[in-house]
Amino acid sequence: MLSQAGWQQESYDENDFDNLPLTKVCGADGKPLMIDVDLLGHPVYAQIWRVQVGRVALYLLDTNHDRNPRQADRDITDQLYGGDRETRIRQEILLGVGGYRALQAMDMQPTVYHMNEGHSAFLALEHLRTLRQRFHLTYDEAQQLASASLVFTTHTPVEAGHDYFPPDLMNRYFGGMMRDLGLSEPAFLDLGRTPGARDFCMTVLALRLASRSNGVSKLHGEVSRHMWQSLWPSVPENEIPIGHVTNGVHFRSWISLEMNQLYDRYLGPNWREEPANGEIWNRAQRMPAEELWRTHERRRERLVGWARNRLRTQRIRRGASQAEIAAAAEVLDPDALSIGFARRFATYKRATLIFRDLPRLRRLLCDPARPVQLIFAGKAHPADDAGKELIRQIVQLARDPELGRRIVFLEDYDMAVTRYLVQGVDVWLNTPLRPNEASGTSGMKAAANGVLNLSTLDGWWDEVWKDPQNPPAIGWAIGNGESYNDLAYQDQVEAETLYDVLEHDVIPTFYDRGPDRIPRRWVDRMKSCIGSLCHFVNTHRMVRDYMCGYYEKSHQRFRALQENNAGRACELSAAIARICSQWKEVWVGKIDEAPRSSVSVASDVLVRAEIHLGSLTPDDVIVELYLGRVNSHGDIVEGLAIPMHSEGRNGSVHRYAATTAIARSGRHGFTIRVRPHHPDLANAFLPGLICWADQARTAVVVG
Ligand SMILES: *Cc1c(COP(=O)(O)O)cnc(C)c1O
Repeated sequence: MLSQAGWQQESYDENDFDNLPLTKVCGADGKPLMIDVDLLGHPVYAQIWRVQVGRVALYLLDTNHDRNPRQADRDITDQLYGGDRETRIRQEILLGVGGYRALQAMDMQPTVYHMNEGHSAFLALEHLRTLRQRFHLTYDEAQQLASASLVFTTHTPVEAGHDYFPPDLMNRYFGGMMRDLGLSEPAFLDLGRTPGARDFCMTVLALRLASRSNGVSKLHGEVSRHMWQSLWPSVPENEIPIGHVTNGVHFRSWISLEMNQLYDRYLGPNWREEPANGEIWNRAQRMPAEELWRTHERRRERLVGWARNRLRTQRIRRGASQAEIAAAAEVLDPDALSIGFARRFATYKRATLIFRDLPRLRRLLCDPARPVQLIFAGKAHPADDAGKELIRQIVQLARDPELGRRIVFLEDYDMAVTRYLVQGVDVWLNTPLRPNEASGTSGMKAAANGVLNLSTLDGWWDEVWKDPQNPPAIGWAIGNGESYNDLAYQDQVEAETLYDVLEHDVIPTFYDRGPDRIPRRWVDRMKSCIGSLCHFVNTHRMVRDYMCGYYEKSHQRFRALQENNAGRACELSAAIARICSQWKEVWVGKIDEAPRSSVSVASDVLVRAEIHLGSLTPDDVIVELYLGRVNSHGDIVEGLAIPMHSEGRNGSVHRYAATTAIARSGRHGFTIRVRPHHPDLANAFLPGLICWADQARTAVVVG
């Protein structure tokens, strides 16, 4: 809630467990199941609560129990935020190690564990320890086996969003783990460190141990590959093994009842069961403009009525004057163009960007013929004073006698508030500073209701905007995704662009009404938005992507490596150890046939080279011709790797060759690289095992 001055106040409700839709998980003996984790030499116990979320069971760990005599232990699950590094590491040990044990205690033996964000990554260590003991493996063997079943998703490109722990804290809490894993202290700490780093990072641990990793939008995948490339030295950035699965939203939770009925009528009922089916959404064009518009207008009226009530309650609680309380009934206009902005108030989301030029904004909002209103909601992290300051500024502006009717801030943002907003506004505004938004999902909730997005090109919006399959009449972009070093200047440019788009495009399109008062061009956009975005922005598509690209593959590979007492994991581990020990003998020798300095487009180019493999064989390696355009520094950018084939050997010197054609004109460079090969490897690269020819050749001009 907000103070009279507009400053966010946190209140933490007591949970009455007897009044919550939870059940305590019991064991075969009918007694509540307990798991424990070791924290500094004594056990901390946790009971397990089960919440049924639709068809999915969610398990919650709870240390607030008589068996824990220490208050500090009971408080581990008391609050998510607040507390110091030590509280955090205890919470994450409980989540990762305790969470893993809870599954085991409930007799679940998953083949795939999906770690979402680094917070749960200690799970990887517990999994490794368990497999090591179960199959009597060495550390390396256990790592191969455990990794096969670990999937990791990173969710933030913001540095502060990643957890770090100092080495002494790690050493205090993980002495037993190191012994059980058979790792020295430095080797253990290095699992969580980038080269040269001091602190242990949960994201690094997860990236090192999971066999598959991803970001949550196409752009976030790129940013993550850049951010974590030091974990794969000498691997080109675009080949860093971090993929992406763009987030989605659960349509049944977000689409209004009215739109539900409209979709049923014009798309057929299958849209609910198969929301990822593009053909169904193509039928959005069949929705009559009048019906779609009336449906949406009803939702806007609902939103305005509900917001007035909420504002009234808010003001009464805050002890506002009678006049202020009465005025709540007159804020907002059920017919005005309504812009929604609701999300966490992290500063990079720039909630106040739209206020940068107040006189200009005032002209836009208060135009009597074409009024515009802004509805805000959101919470700042309890420790984020800068975020709270943004909220305070908005609340102050909403006190302005003229703007007050057109700007409201709603307290206690939660999913119910989101629903009213994303179903009832006309435009969903999003102004993150690129590339800080990993994906963003509220705009997807809006799009599913035919609400048009107006957003900087970041996260998911960058991705759908650039898709050539989508004509850009699905909403609006603020800018082209350009970045300036001067952030104040960036704000300035993007605020002006935002006003321009509002003034010259959004507002005129909304108020361009025919005799029937329907904004036909607007409604066309709504249909294009629904027709071209809905099949993509839903959780069915997202889960399918995870299933096909991650879970299924990990499941198969884990099962294979685990067979015969982890026999194949041991073989793989031995093969990697052998390749590692010989890797220093691997180098690219003479390149004895190379392209001429000038070749014509699409003509064949032949490269032959001598590759020294020591005692390794061509089965242990993949040799590739690496070819691409050269930038002004002489570096090959986004090169293409073309496999070279072995043409025989002379002792440990192998002759390799490849023929290819260069499709584009311009200055090209090529080089040769060697990387390890084994049929059971999950990824193209093993950190540290890549060998490049000493020099990139940059002599090829294609004309
Ligand atoms: C959807 C939603 C979010 C996430 O919104 P973003 O656009 O991803 O920032 C946060 N909080 C609530 C309550 C939501 O409903």
